[in-house]
Amino acid sequence: MGQQWVQLYAYDTSYEVVAWSQLGPSARGEVGIICQELLARARQRRGAEHIKILSGLCQWKGRAYFSLIVPVGGIQQQGYLQLVTDPLANMVNLEQFLDMPVRLSSVNGDRVYRSHAWRGGAAGQDFITAHYWLQGGAGGRLTQVSVQHDLDLFNQQVTESRNLLMTLAGVITLVMVLFTLWVLQQSMLRPMRAFINQLNLVRSDRRNLGRPIELPANAELRELVQVFNDMSRELAVAYEEYEDLAFTDQLTALPNRALFLDRLRQLILLSKRKSERFGVMLLDLDSFKEVNDTLGHHLGDELLRHIALRLQRILRASSTIARVGEDNTGEEPGKALLEAEETTVARLGGDEFAFLLPNLGGVDGAVAVARRVTEALEAPVDVDGNLIVVAGTLGLAMFPEHGDSAETLLRRADVALYVAKHIQSDFSVYDPAYDRNSVKQLALKAELRSAIDDDQLLLYYQPKLDLEKGCVASVEALVRWQHPEQGLIPPNQFIPMSEQRGLIGPLTEWVIHTALQQHRSWQEQGIDVKIAVNLSSRVLYDLSLPAKVEQALVKAQLSPAALALEITEEATMLDPERAMIILQRLNEMGISLSIDDFGTGHSSLSYLKRLPVDEIKIDRSFVMEMESSDNDAKIVHATIDLAHNLGLKVVAEGVESEHILSMLKTLNCDYAQGFHLSRPVAADDLVKWLAVSEYRCGI
Ligand code: C2E
Ligand code: CA
Ligand code: CA
Repeated sequence: MGQQWVQLYAYDTSYEVVAWSQLGPSARGEVGIICQELLARARQRRGAEHIKILSGLCQWKGRAYFSLIVPVGGIQQQGYLQLVTDPLANMVNLEQFLDMPVRLSSVNGDRVYRSHAWRGGAAGQDFITAHYWLQGGAGGRLTQVSVQHDLDLFNQQVTESRNLLMTLAGVITLVMVLFTLWVLQQSMLRPMRAFINQLNLVRSDRRNLGRPIELPANAELRELVQVFNDMSRELAVAYEEYEDLAFTDQLTALPNRALFLDRLRQLILLSKRKSERFGVMLLDLDSFKEVNDTLGHHLGDELLRHIALRLQRILRASSTIARVGEDNTGEEPGKALLEAEETTVARLGGDEFAFLLPNLGGVDGAVAVARRVTEALEAPVDVDGNLIVVAGTLGLAMFPEHGDSAETLLRRADVALYVAKHIQSDFSVYDPAYDRNSVKQLALKAELRSAIDDDQLLLYYQPKLDLEKGCVASVEALVRWQHPEQGLIPPNQFIPMSEQRGLIGPLTEWVIHTALQQHRSWQEQGIDVKIAVNLSSRVLYDLSLPAKVEQALVKAQLSPAALALEITEEATMLDPERAMIILQRLNEMGISLSIDDFGTGHSSLSYLKRLPVDEIKIDRSFVMEMESSDNDAKIVHATIDLAHNLGLKVVAEGVESEHILSMLKTLNCDYAQGFHLSRPVAADDLVKWLAVSEYRCGI
């Protein structure tokens, strides 16, 4: 680097040189020649401008100089000093400042200065050269400054920039995603969540069904919610109709058994919590069956509707009394009550009604309602111009003293009702002190329906032997009641009862259905035996019997040959003509018919011959005594002969010994049935018995 070079001029106030000096090598040129243009500009200034410092770059012989003209003496101006320096002489400083090799060239290309570290030749892989022009005060180019950038450094900077860029891009993306999520949240997720909440509300309580959900702003969701709202409304209507059907008695429009039980269960829960008592009361119309039989079903139905209205009216009045007696809030009676707390009257079926009596302040309140009911029934009912009087009997059980489950309360109310009938009273309250046996009987009676509904019945089977072939010909289905507390109850203890209670119809249907299903299942195991089912007289006179039997056969996909029906001799005698019609229909269907307990009635064989039956079963009382009683043996003998003459087959029941069996064979009896062969047994046990029996033959 060259040495420092400075020229200094002193001027008077008219810019005439009065003195000058020079620092550094002298051979640069004559005094005052360098930076004449700056001096010229200084001279042209006016007034106060002369006291300002003037500076600028100037050129002389292709070199750049820096010059400064400074006034001397302040306001009392005495002259000017001009400083001219060569800025390029101080390049070391520039080089250090830039931290890269520098080269300076004059306008005509002469090199003025070059760093030691300057790399010659074209730009290589590790550096690039950049050129800049320094402009003079008049706008002309003065000096070219060239610098060499180190590429390594450059690359490093680029990498740093790229990293920075990528980080920046990441941050921007994150911000964008968050923003998008926020927008999504506002437009989709929030309404979606609201929608789901509404769906959950519907799920938790079906009463919310049909309640429209507010439409969201989002178009797609709007459509979805709209569709849901439509669907929900339609479902609500359908549900209401369904509930109406499922929980309303269609004849009287009163709640039915299902709804009554539901409310009873709710009331039990509620009353347990509040430690309150309530009553369950049953009403049975005394002479309703007679009305039905004499005036026909249509008027019977009409009567039930009238009575239902009366009962409702009584209850409305009763609940008013109860409410007013309880508190005096002045509310409309019943309005503030929960559903379960409402006094309810329901029709359980047939001529049986049930009441739920909460808020009555114990037995007395219930007794008052009972009295009102009996009074209301005393007034004759006008049905199509017929004045009909129906009395009713009522039985009451109280929660919690008589039971704390719906089933027990209903059963006990039923027991109370039967006791009332028994003692010929209108009304009785359940009392645990009733004679245990009669209560047991009455309780059984009350429980019969649940025996059928709850599947407590089962069938036992007893084989019937073909004496000629020595093979099992068929089995007789004999019903049993598997009572949860009392164990296995034989049919004689509940068949007559079910006839009285009008339950023999459903019971028989159950027996036929179960027997046919059993037949099918045996058939699949390769056991093909006809099954005989007993029909009680009440069932025999049901005109819909043939159709019901047919339905059961179709359902089990069996031919009529699978089934035999046994009717007692006595039953056919009640109404011989009607019996004839129904038996003929069954016979035409291809079902074989037997006359059961033959010999105990007063019919003649010739009468029986007119019936389309295939066989008679000689009552077991004669057969069992054949060994000991000559008379009975003669009766059996005569019956077999006569029956054969009339073309009927003969079964002997009650065969308890080998001796009787051989006697029957000698008498040419066709079939035998009795404990000696097998007692009635469960289906599985019959299969086991058959497997080892000498009478199995081909089946
Ligand atoms: P049933 O139709 O005369 O049935 C035969 C009864 O005699 C059966 O009594 C059977 O166990 C019994 N028995 C069979 N072999 C012998 C024997 O060798 N010695 C003695 N001492 N008894 C014998 P179970 O099963 O108690 O049935 C009694 C009655 O109940 C039946 O008499 C029938 O009238 C009725 N019953 C049974 N099941 C049904 C049914 O599903 N519907 C109807 N309506 N009545 C049924
Ligand atoms: Ca029988
Ligand atoms: Ca019999």
